[in-house]
Amino acid sequence: MPTGNGSRVLLIGLDSVDFDYLQSHLGSLPTLQRLFTGGVVRRLDSPGDVMSASVWPTFYTGTLPGEHGRYFPVQWDPASMRFRHVASDWIDSEPFWRALARGGLPVTTLDVPMAFPSRTTAGVEVVNWGAESFGNFHCNRPDIGREIARRFGTNVLGPDVPVDKSPRRLDRIRRTLLAVAKRRGELGRWLMKQTAWNLFVAVFPECHRAGHYFWSDAAASAAPTSDDDVVLELHRAVDREVGALIEAAAPDTSVIVFSLHGMETNHSQMHLVGPVIERINAVFASPDGTPPASRPRAKRNITRLLRELLPASIQERVALAIPVGLRQWLVGRSYASTADWRNTPGFALPTAGQGYVRLNVVGREAQGCLARGGAPYSRYLEAVREGFLSLRDAETREPLVESISAPGERYPGPRSEYLPDLSIGWRGVAPATAVHSERLGTFTGRLKTGRGGNHRPVAFAAVSGPARELPRAASLQTITDLSELVRDLAIGPR
Ligand SMILES: [Zn+2]
Repeated sequence: MPTGNGSRVLLIGLDSVDFDYLQSHLGSLPTLQRLFTGGVVRRLDSPGDVMSASVWPTFYTGTLPGEHGRYFPVQWDPASMRFRHVASDWIDSEPFWRALARGGLPVTTLDVPMAFPSRTTAGVEVVNWGAESFGNFHCNRPDIGREIARRFGTNVLGPDVPVDKSPRRLDRIRRTLLAVAKRRGELGRWLMKQTAWNLFVAVFPECHRAGHYFWSDAAASAAPTSDDDVVLELHRAVDREVGALIEAAAPDTSVIVFSLHGMETNHSQMHLVGPVIERINAVFASPDGTPPASRPRAKRNITRLLRELLPASIQERVALAIPVGLRQWLVGRSYASTADWRNTPGFALPTAGQGYVRLNVVGREAQGCLARGGAPYSRYLEAVREGFLSLRDAETREPLVESISAPGERYPGPRSEYLPDLSIGWRGVAPATAVHSERLGTFTGRLKTGRGGNHRPVAFAAVSGPARELPRAASLQTITDLSELVRDLAIGPR
Protein backbone atom coordinates (compact mmCIF):
# COMPACT_ATOMS: atom_id res chain seq x y z
CA MET A 1 0.00 0.00 0.00
CA PRO A 2 1.13 3.56 -0.54
CA THR A 3 3.31 5.01 2.19
CA GLY A 4 3.56 8.53 0.77
CA ASN A 5 2.01 11.61 2.31
CA GLY A 6 -1.25 10.82 0.58
CA SER A 7 -1.03 14.01 -1.41
CA ARG A 8 -3.13 13.88 -4.52
CA VAL A 9 -1.37 14.47 -7.81
CA LEU A 10 -2.87 15.88 -10.99
CA LEU A 11 -0.45 15.23 -13.86
CA ILE A 12 -1.53 17.11 -16.97
CA GLY A 13 0.21 16.64 -20.32
CA LEU A 14 -0.08 19.41 -22.90
CA ASP A 15 0.97 17.58 -26.03
CA SER A 16 3.41 19.60 -28.17
CA VAL A 17 2.76 22.87 -26.36
CA ASP A 18 5.91 24.88 -26.97
CA PHE A 19 7.74 26.34 -23.98
CA ASP A 20 8.79 29.61 -25.62
CA TYR A 21 5.39 30.03 -27.26
CA LEU A 22 3.71 29.57 -23.89
CA GLN A 23 5.96 32.06 -22.18
CA SER A 24 5.25 34.74 -24.76
CA HIS A 25 1.48 34.11 -24.63
CA LEU A 26 0.92 33.66 -20.88
CA GLY A 27 -1.00 36.93 -20.82
CA SER A 28 -3.81 35.20 -22.78
CA LEU A 29 -3.66 31.96 -20.78
CA PRO A 30 -4.74 32.68 -17.21
CA THR A 31 -4.48 29.11 -15.85
CA LEU A 32 -1.02 28.52 -17.21
CA GLN A 33 0.07 31.98 -16.15
CA ARG A 34 -0.97 31.16 -12.59
CA LEU A 35 0.87 27.82 -12.71
CA PHE A 36 3.99 29.40 -14.20
CA THR A 37 4.20 32.29 -11.76
CA GLY A 38 3.25 30.30 -8.66
CA GLY A 39 5.14 27.09 -9.40
CA VAL A 40 8.57 25.65 -10.06
CA VAL A 41 9.16 25.75 -13.82
CA ARG A 42 11.86 23.55 -15.32
CA ARG A 43 13.04 23.14 -18.90
CA LEU A 44 13.72 19.42 -19.49
CA ASP A 45 16.00 17.34 -21.70
CA SER A 46 14.51 14.57 -23.82
CA PRO A 47 15.49 12.16 -26.62
CA GLY A 48 13.25 14.26 -28.92
CA ASP A 49 16.28 15.83 -30.61
CA VAL A 50 17.04 12.52 -32.36
CA MET A 51 13.65 10.71 -32.26
CA SER A 52 10.72 13.05 -31.93
CA ALA A 53 7.91 10.62 -31.05
CA SER A 54 10.07 8.61 -28.61
CA VAL A 55 9.28 11.18 -25.93
CA TRP A 56 5.90 9.69 -24.94
CA PRO A 57 7.05 6.12 -24.12
CA THR A 58 10.17 7.66 -22.55
CA PHE A 59 7.99 9.73 -20.22
CA TYR A 60 5.48 7.04 -19.33
CA THR A 61 7.95 4.22 -18.76
CA GLY A 62 10.47 6.52 -17.08
CA THR A 63 13.17 4.84 -19.17
CA LEU A 64 15.29 5.81 -22.18
CA PRO A 65 14.65 4.51 -25.74
CA GLY A 66 17.28 1.75 -25.48
CA GLU A 67 15.11 0.25 -22.72
CA HIS A 68 11.62 0.66 -24.21
CA GLY A 69 12.56 0.46 -27.92
CA ARG A 70 9.82 2.75 -29.28
CA TYR A 71 10.29 5.82 -31.43
CA PHE A 72 7.33 5.80 -33.91
CA PRO A 73 3.89 4.17 -34.30
CA VAL A 74 5.21 2.09 -37.23
CA GLN A 75 8.60 0.41 -36.79
CA TRP A 76 10.82 -2.07 -38.58
CA ASP A 77 10.68 -5.71 -37.52
CA PRO A 78 14.08 -7.23 -38.42
CA ALA A 79 12.79 -10.78 -37.88
CA SER A 80 10.00 -10.56 -40.50
CA MET A 81 11.70 -7.89 -42.67
CA ARG A 82 8.64 -5.65 -42.70
CA PHE A 83 7.11 -2.60 -41.05
CA ARG A 84 4.59 -3.19 -38.30
CA HIS A 85 2.34 -1.05 -36.15
CA VAL A 86 3.89 -1.28 -32.71
CA ALA A 87 1.54 -3.19 -30.40
CA SER A 88 1.80 -4.74 -26.96
CA ASP A 89 2.23 -8.22 -28.43
CA TRP A 90 5.43 -7.07 -30.08
CA ILE A 91 7.23 -4.24 -28.24
CA ASP A 92 5.30 -3.98 -25.00
CA SER A 93 5.88 -1.22 -22.48
CA GLU A 94 4.24 -0.56 -19.16
CA PRO A 95 3.56 2.92 -17.80
CA PHE A 96 5.10 3.72 -14.42
CA TRP A 97 1.72 4.24 -12.77
CA ARG A 98 0.60 0.66 -13.38
CA ALA A 99 3.05 -0.68 -10.80
CA LEU A 100 1.83 1.99 -8.38
CA ALA A 101 -1.78 0.96 -9.07
CA ARG A 102 -0.97 -2.71 -8.49
CA GLY A 103 0.62 -1.64 -5.20
CA GLY A 104 -2.68 -0.10 -4.12
CA LEU A 105 -2.41 3.53 -5.24
CA PRO A 106 -5.69 4.67 -6.83
CA VAL A 107 -4.76 5.84 -10.35
CA THR A 108 -6.91 7.18 -13.20
CA THR A 109 -5.50 8.03 -16.62
CA LEU A 110 -6.98 9.59 -19.76
CA ASP A 111 -5.48 9.42 -23.26
CA VAL A 112 -1.74 9.13 -22.70
CA PRO A 113 -0.33 9.02 -26.26
CA MET A 114 1.28 5.76 -27.39
CA ALA A 115 0.20 3.94 -24.18
CA PHE A 116 -1.23 0.46 -24.73
CA PRO A 117 -4.58 -0.66 -23.29
CA SER A 118 -4.21 -1.97 -19.75
CA ARG A 119 -5.10 -5.64 -19.38
CA THR A 120 -5.01 -5.43 -15.58
CA THR A 121 -7.82 -4.46 -13.22
CA ALA A 122 -5.59 -2.09 -11.25
CA GLY A 123 -6.57 1.55 -11.61
CA VAL A 124 -8.71 3.03 -14.36
CA GLU A 125 -6.94 3.59 -17.68
CA VAL A 126 -8.70 5.16 -20.65
CA VAL A 127 -6.77 5.12 -23.93
CA ASN A 128 -7.61 6.45 -27.40
CA TRP A 129 -10.77 8.26 -26.37
CA GLY A 130 -9.64 11.18 -28.46
CA ALA A 131 -6.00 10.63 -29.26
CA GLU A 132 -3.62 11.10 -32.19
CA SER A 133 -3.59 7.41 -33.08
CA PHE A 134 -5.09 4.59 -35.12
CA GLY A 135 -5.74 2.53 -31.97
CA ASN A 136 -9.24 1.86 -30.67
CA PHE A 137 -10.86 3.27 -27.56
CA HIS A 138 -10.27 1.08 -24.53
CA CYS A 139 -10.94 1.24 -20.82
CA ASN A 140 -9.74 -1.57 -18.54
CA ARG A 141 -12.96 -1.16 -16.51
CA PRO A 142 -15.72 -2.20 -18.96
CA ASP A 143 -18.48 -0.59 -16.88
CA ILE A 144 -16.74 2.78 -16.95
CA GLY A 145 -15.83 2.31 -20.62
CA ARG A 146 -19.49 1.77 -21.52
CA GLU A 147 -20.58 4.81 -19.58
CA ILE A 148 -17.90 6.96 -21.27
CA ALA A 149 -19.06 5.74 -24.68
CA ARG A 150 -22.66 6.57 -23.81
CA ARG A 151 -22.01 10.03 -22.39
CA PHE A 152 -18.98 11.28 -24.32
CA GLY A 153 -18.57 9.06 -27.41
CA THR A 154 -15.37 7.25 -28.40
CA ASN A 155 -12.55 7.81 -30.88
CA VAL A 156 -13.69 11.42 -31.03
CA LEU A 157 -10.52 12.83 -32.58
CA GLY A 158 -9.27 10.08 -34.84
CA PRO A 159 -5.85 9.68 -36.38
CA ASP A 160 -4.19 12.38 -38.38
CA VAL A 161 -3.25 11.61 -41.96
CA PRO A 162 -0.38 13.95 -42.90
CA VAL A 163 -1.38 15.06 -46.40
CA ASP A 164 -2.12 18.52 -47.84
CA LYS A 165 -5.45 19.89 -46.57
CA SER A 166 -7.97 22.18 -48.26
CA PRO A 167 -9.11 25.34 -46.41
CA ARG A 168 -12.46 23.62 -45.82
CA ARG A 169 -10.80 20.56 -44.33
CA LEU A 170 -8.63 22.80 -42.14
CA ASP A 171 -11.70 24.59 -40.85
CA ARG A 172 -13.27 21.26 -39.97
CA ILE A 173 -10.10 20.24 -38.11
CA ARG A 174 -10.19 23.51 -36.16
CA ARG A 175 -13.83 23.05 -35.16
CA THR A 176 -13.28 19.41 -34.20
CA LEU A 177 -10.28 20.28 -32.04
CA LEU A 178 -12.18 23.01 -30.20
CA ALA A 179 -15.13 20.69 -29.56
CA VAL A 180 -12.92 17.82 -28.42
CA ALA A 181 -10.92 20.02 -26.00
CA LYS A 182 -14.18 21.07 -24.35
CA ARG A 183 -15.59 17.56 -24.19
CA ARG A 184 -12.25 16.24 -22.89
CA GLY A 185 -12.52 18.70 -20.02
CA GLU A 186 -16.02 17.41 -19.23
CA LEU A 187 -14.87 13.79 -19.41
CA GLY A 188 -11.87 14.57 -17.21
CA ARG A 189 -14.04 16.16 -14.55
CA TRP A 190 -16.52 13.28 -14.76
CA LEU A 191 -13.69 10.76 -14.27
CA MET A 192 -12.35 12.76 -11.34
CA LYS A 193 -15.76 12.42 -9.69
CA GLN A 194 -16.53 8.83 -10.69
CA THR A 195 -13.20 7.21 -9.83
CA ALA A 196 -11.16 7.13 -6.65
CA TRP A 197 -7.75 8.58 -7.44
CA ASN A 198 -4.61 9.78 -5.78
CA LEU A 199 -2.89 10.10 -9.13
CA PHE A 200 -4.85 11.48 -12.08
CA VAL A 201 -3.11 11.68 -15.45
CA ALA A 202 -4.76 13.50 -18.35
CA VAL A 203 -3.29 14.51 -21.69
CA PHE A 204 -4.61 17.23 -24.02
CA PRO A 205 -3.47 16.48 -27.61
CA GLU A 206 -5.39 19.32 -29.29
CA CYS A 207 -2.50 21.79 -29.50
CA HIS A 208 -0.42 19.07 -31.17
CA ARG A 209 -2.59 18.86 -34.28
CA ALA A 210 -3.27 22.59 -34.25
CA GLY A 211 0.51 23.16 -34.24
CA HIS A 212 1.09 20.89 -37.21
CA TYR A 213 -1.56 22.52 -39.39
CA PHE A 214 -1.83 26.13 -38.21
CA TRP A 215 1.64 27.06 -36.95
CA SER A 216 3.44 30.14 -38.17
CA ASP A 217 6.59 31.47 -36.57
CA ALA A 218 5.43 35.02 -37.27
CA ALA A 219 2.21 34.50 -35.29
CA ALA A 220 4.12 32.62 -32.58
CA SER A 221 6.41 35.56 -31.87
CA ALA A 222 3.83 38.31 -32.43
CA ALA A 223 1.66 39.90 -29.80
CA PRO A 224 -1.41 37.70 -29.32
CA THR A 225 -4.08 39.84 -30.91
CA SER A 226 -5.17 38.19 -34.12
CA ASP A 227 -8.72 36.82 -34.14
CA ASP A 228 -7.95 34.13 -36.71
CA ASP A 229 -4.97 32.70 -34.79
CA VAL A 230 -6.07 29.06 -34.52
CA VAL A 231 -3.02 28.02 -32.51
CA LEU A 232 -3.79 30.59 -29.82
CA GLU A 233 -7.50 29.74 -29.94
CA LEU A 234 -6.68 26.10 -29.14
CA HIS A 235 -4.22 27.07 -26.40
CA ARG A 236 -6.95 29.21 -24.84
CA ALA A 237 -9.47 26.38 -25.03
CA VAL A 238 -7.04 23.95 -23.37
CA ASP A 239 -6.07 26.54 -20.75
CA ARG A 240 -9.75 26.88 -19.78
CA GLU A 241 -10.22 23.11 -19.43
CA VAL A 242 -7.00 22.68 -17.45
CA GLY A 243 -8.24 25.43 -15.12
CA ALA A 244 -11.57 23.64 -14.67
CA LEU A 245 -9.83 20.32 -13.89
CA ILE A 246 -7.68 21.98 -11.22
CA GLU A 247 -10.77 23.66 -9.80
CA ALA A 248 -12.50 20.29 -9.55
CA ALA A 249 -9.62 18.83 -7.50
CA ALA A 250 -9.10 19.37 -3.76
CA PRO A 251 -7.11 22.54 -2.98
CA ASP A 252 -4.10 20.63 -1.58
CA THR A 253 -3.65 18.67 -4.82
CA SER A 254 -0.20 18.83 -6.40
CA VAL A 255 -0.44 19.96 -10.00
CA ILE A 256 2.25 19.06 -12.55
CA VAL A 257 1.69 20.43 -16.03
CA PHE A 258 4.18 19.27 -18.62
CA SER A 259 4.98 19.12 -22.31
CA LEU A 260 7.45 16.68 -23.86
CA HIS A 261 8.23 18.64 -26.99
CA GLY A 262 7.45 21.92 -28.70
CA MET A 263 6.56 23.30 -32.10
CA GLU A 264 8.23 25.41 -34.76
CA THR A 265 8.02 25.98 -38.52
CA ASN A 266 8.42 22.70 -40.34
CA HIS A 267 11.99 22.22 -41.61
CA SER A 268 11.69 18.55 -42.42
CA GLN A 269 13.27 17.22 -45.60
CA MET A 270 11.87 13.74 -44.92
CA HIS A 271 10.54 13.48 -48.50
CA LEU A 272 14.16 13.16 -49.71
CA VAL A 273 15.33 10.32 -47.48
CA GLY A 274 13.98 7.40 -49.54
CA PRO A 275 15.22 8.65 -52.94
CA VAL A 276 18.60 9.70 -51.47
CA ILE A 277 19.26 6.37 -49.78
CA GLU A 278 18.33 4.53 -53.00
CA ARG A 279 20.83 6.66 -54.93
CA ILE A 280 23.49 6.04 -52.25
CA ASN A 281 22.85 2.30 -52.60
CA ALA A 282 23.24 2.47 -56.38
CA VAL A 283 26.53 4.34 -56.09
CA PHE A 284 27.73 1.95 -53.40
CA ALA A 285 26.94 -1.04 -55.61
CA SER A 286 28.86 0.31 -58.61
CA PRO A 287 32.18 -1.55 -58.95
CA ASP A 288 34.50 1.41 -58.30
CA GLY A 289 32.21 3.26 -55.90
CA THR A 290 31.62 6.15 -58.28
CA PRO A 291 28.24 7.30 -59.56
CA PRO A 292 27.01 5.15 -62.47
CA ALA A 293 27.59 6.78 -65.86
CA SER A 294 23.88 7.28 -66.40
CA ARG A 295 21.69 8.28 -63.54
CA PRO A 296 20.33 5.12 -61.87
CA ARG A 297 16.89 4.32 -63.20
CA ALA A 298 14.34 5.16 -60.56
CA LYS A 299 12.70 2.01 -59.25
CA ARG A 300 8.98 1.90 -59.88
CA ASN A 301 7.42 2.32 -56.51
CA ILE A 302 3.67 2.10 -57.01
CA THR A 303 2.80 3.31 -53.53
CA ARG A 304 5.06 6.36 -53.85
CA LEU A 305 3.62 7.00 -57.31
CA LEU A 306 0.04 6.89 -55.97
CA ARG A 307 1.05 9.39 -53.31
CA GLU A 308 2.30 11.68 -56.08
CA LEU A 309 -0.81 11.34 -58.22
CA LEU A 310 -3.85 10.88 -55.97
CA PRO A 311 -5.51 14.02 -54.59
CA ALA A 312 -4.66 14.51 -50.90
CA SER A 313 -8.32 14.36 -49.85
CA ILE A 314 -8.69 10.90 -51.38
CA GLN A 315 -5.45 9.70 -49.80
CA GLU A 316 -6.76 10.86 -46.45
CA ARG A 317 -10.11 9.12 -46.90
CA VAL A 318 -8.42 5.88 -47.99
CA ALA A 319 -5.96 5.93 -45.07
CA LEU A 320 -8.80 6.42 -42.58
CA ALA A 321 -11.02 3.73 -44.12
CA ILE A 322 -8.72 0.76 -44.68
CA PRO A 323 -7.91 -1.82 -42.01
CA VAL A 324 -4.70 -1.53 -40.01
CA GLY A 325 -2.99 -4.48 -41.71
CA LEU A 326 -3.40 -3.04 -45.19
CA ARG A 327 -2.34 0.39 -44.01
CA GLN A 328 0.90 -0.86 -42.49
CA TRP A 329 1.60 -2.80 -45.70
CA LEU A 330 1.12 0.38 -47.76
CA VAL A 331 3.33 2.40 -45.41
CA GLY A 332 5.97 -0.30 -45.75
CA ARG A 333 5.71 -0.31 -49.54
CA SER A 334 6.22 3.43 -49.76
CA TYR A 335 9.46 3.17 -47.74
CA ALA A 336 11.22 -0.10 -48.52
CA SER A 337 9.80 -1.26 -51.83
CA THR A 338 12.60 -3.70 -52.50
CA ALA A 339 12.56 -7.44 -52.12
CA ASP A 340 16.21 -7.61 -53.19
CA TRP A 341 17.64 -7.56 -49.70
CA ARG A 342 21.04 -8.92 -50.78
CA ASN A 343 21.68 -5.64 -52.54
CA THR A 344 20.05 -3.31 -50.02
CA PRO A 345 22.59 -2.31 -47.38
CA GLY A 346 20.32 0.42 -45.97
CA PHE A 347 16.83 1.88 -46.32
CA ALA A 348 14.59 4.69 -45.08
CA LEU A 349 12.18 4.24 -42.16
CA PRO A 350 8.75 5.86 -41.63
CA THR A 351 9.01 9.21 -39.90
CA ALA A 352 7.14 12.48 -39.41
CA GLY A 353 10.18 14.74 -39.22
CA GLN A 354 13.70 13.50 -38.71
CA GLY A 355 15.20 11.26 -41.41
CA TYR A 356 15.64 7.68 -40.21
CA VAL A 357 17.90 5.11 -41.83
CA ARG A 358 18.10 1.42 -41.04
CA LEU A 359 21.12 -0.69 -41.97
CA ASN A 360 20.47 -4.20 -43.23
CA VAL A 361 22.76 -5.95 -40.76
CA VAL A 362 23.78 -9.63 -40.92
CA GLY A 363 22.60 -11.47 -37.80
CA ARG A 364 20.07 -8.79 -36.84
CA GLU A 365 17.98 -8.53 -40.00
CA ALA A 366 16.66 -11.92 -41.16
CA GLN A 367 18.05 -11.19 -44.63
CA GLY A 368 20.94 -8.94 -43.63
CA CYS A 369 23.70 -8.25 -46.15
CA LEU A 370 26.05 -5.95 -44.25
CA ALA A 371 28.34 -7.60 -41.69
CA ARG A 372 28.90 -5.38 -38.67
CA GLY A 373 32.47 -4.22 -38.20
CA GLY A 374 33.66 -5.27 -41.67
CA ALA A 375 35.23 -2.90 -44.19
CA PRO A 376 32.06 -2.66 -46.36
CA TYR A 377 30.10 -1.73 -43.21
CA SER A 378 32.37 1.24 -42.43
CA ARG A 379 32.51 2.19 -46.09
CA TYR A 380 28.70 2.17 -46.36
CA LEU A 381 28.21 4.17 -43.16
CA GLU A 382 30.62 6.75 -44.50
CA ALA A 383 28.80 6.82 -47.85
CA VAL A 384 25.48 7.47 -46.09
CA ARG A 385 26.92 10.21 -43.88
CA GLU A 386 28.74 11.95 -46.72
CA GLY A 387 25.78 11.49 -49.05
CA PHE A 388 23.34 13.25 -46.73
CA LEU A 389 25.83 15.93 -45.73
CA SER A 390 26.37 16.73 -49.42
CA LEU A 391 22.70 17.69 -50.02
CA ARG A 392 22.10 21.32 -50.87
CA ASP A 393 19.00 23.23 -51.86
CA ALA A 394 19.47 23.62 -55.63
CA GLU A 395 18.27 27.20 -55.57
CA THR A 396 19.80 28.72 -52.42
CA ARG A 397 22.84 26.36 -52.25
CA GLU A 398 22.18 26.02 -48.52
CA PRO A 399 23.14 22.67 -46.98
CA LEU A 400 20.06 20.78 -45.71
CA VAL A 401 21.52 18.51 -43.05
CA GLU A 402 22.51 19.76 -39.61
CA SER A 403 23.52 16.54 -37.88
CA ILE A 404 23.62 12.78 -38.23
CA SER A 405 23.41 10.76 -35.04
CA ALA A 406 23.22 7.10 -34.10
CA PRO A 407 20.24 6.60 -31.72
CA GLY A 408 21.11 2.95 -31.02
CA GLU A 409 24.58 3.95 -29.80
CA ARG A 410 23.37 6.97 -27.89
CA TYR A 411 20.73 4.88 -26.09
CA PRO A 412 22.25 1.47 -25.44
CA GLY A 413 19.94 -1.10 -23.89
CA PRO A 414 18.09 -4.35 -24.46
CA ARG A 415 15.89 -2.79 -27.18
CA SER A 416 18.36 -0.43 -28.84
CA GLU A 417 18.28 -2.64 -31.93
CA TYR A 418 14.70 -1.54 -32.65
CA LEU A 419 15.89 2.06 -32.97
CA PRO A 420 16.99 3.64 -36.25
CA ASP A 421 20.71 3.21 -36.95
CA LEU A 422 20.94 6.80 -38.10
CA SER A 423 18.83 9.85 -37.42
CA ILE A 424 19.24 12.84 -39.70
CA GLY A 425 18.56 16.26 -38.20
CA TRP A 426 17.65 19.05 -40.62
CA ARG A 427 18.93 22.60 -40.74
CA GLY A 428 16.38 25.34 -40.17
CA VAL A 429 15.62 25.96 -43.83
CA ALA A 430 12.40 25.50 -45.81
CA PRO A 431 11.56 22.03 -47.18
CA ALA A 432 13.39 21.82 -50.52
CA THR A 433 11.77 21.03 -53.87
CA ALA A 434 15.01 20.67 -55.83
CA VAL A 435 18.22 19.39 -54.31
CA HIS A 436 21.70 19.01 -55.68
CA SER A 437 24.60 16.94 -54.46
CA GLU A 438 28.09 16.83 -55.99
CA ARG A 439 28.21 13.14 -55.13
CA LEU A 440 24.70 11.98 -55.87
CA GLY A 441 23.24 14.27 -58.51
CA THR A 442 19.87 15.98 -58.48
CA PHE A 443 16.63 15.19 -56.66
CA THR A 444 13.22 16.77 -56.95
CA GLY A 445 10.15 16.32 -54.80
CA ARG A 446 7.96 18.15 -52.35
CA LEU A 447 7.13 17.67 -48.69
CA LYS A 448 3.44 16.84 -48.97
CA THR A 449 2.40 16.43 -45.36
CA GLY A 450 0.35 19.63 -45.27
CA ARG A 451 2.13 20.44 -42.01
CA GLY A 452 3.43 23.96 -41.65
CA GLY A 453 4.55 23.22 -38.10
CA ASN A 454 6.62 20.41 -36.68
CA HIS A 455 8.16 19.37 -33.39
CA ARG A 456 11.22 20.81 -31.77
CA PRO A 457 12.93 19.18 -28.80
CA VAL A 458 12.00 21.51 -25.96
CA ALA A 459 10.25 20.03 -22.93
CA PHE A 460 9.16 21.57 -19.64
CA ALA A 461 7.28 20.97 -16.41
CA ALA A 462 5.53 23.45 -14.13
CA VAL A 463 5.03 22.07 -10.62
CA SER A 464 2.71 23.64 -8.07
CA GLY A 465 0.92 22.70 -4.85
CA PRO A 466 2.68 20.58 -2.19
CA ALA A 467 4.90 18.97 -4.88
CA ARG A 468 6.80 22.21 -5.39
CA GLU A 469 8.35 21.83 -1.94
CA LEU A 470 10.01 18.54 -2.87
CA PRO A 471 13.74 18.74 -3.63
CA ARG A 472 13.12 16.69 -6.76
CA ALA A 473 10.82 19.34 -8.22
CA ALA A 474 13.62 21.90 -8.15
CA SER A 475 16.10 19.48 -9.68
CA LEU A 476 13.98 18.03 -12.53
CA GLN A 477 16.32 17.64 -15.51
CA THR A 478 14.91 15.21 -18.01
CA ILE A 479 11.46 13.95 -18.92
CA THR A 480 12.24 10.61 -17.22
CA ASP A 481 12.47 12.49 -13.88
CA LEU A 482 8.71 13.18 -13.98
CA SER A 483 7.88 9.57 -13.04
CA GLU A 484 10.32 9.82 -10.10
CA LEU A 485 8.68 13.01 -8.91
CA VAL A 486 5.26 11.36 -8.97
CA ARG A 487 6.64 8.32 -7.11
CA ASP A 488 8.12 10.60 -4.44
CA LEU A 489 4.71 12.15 -3.94
CA ALA A 490 2.71 8.96 -4.05
CA ILE A 491 4.85 6.55 -2.04
CA GLY A 492 7.69 8.67 -0.65
CA PRO A 493 11.31 9.04 -1.88
CA ARG A 494 13.16 5.77 -2.41
ZN1 LIG B 1 3.32 15.37 -34.30
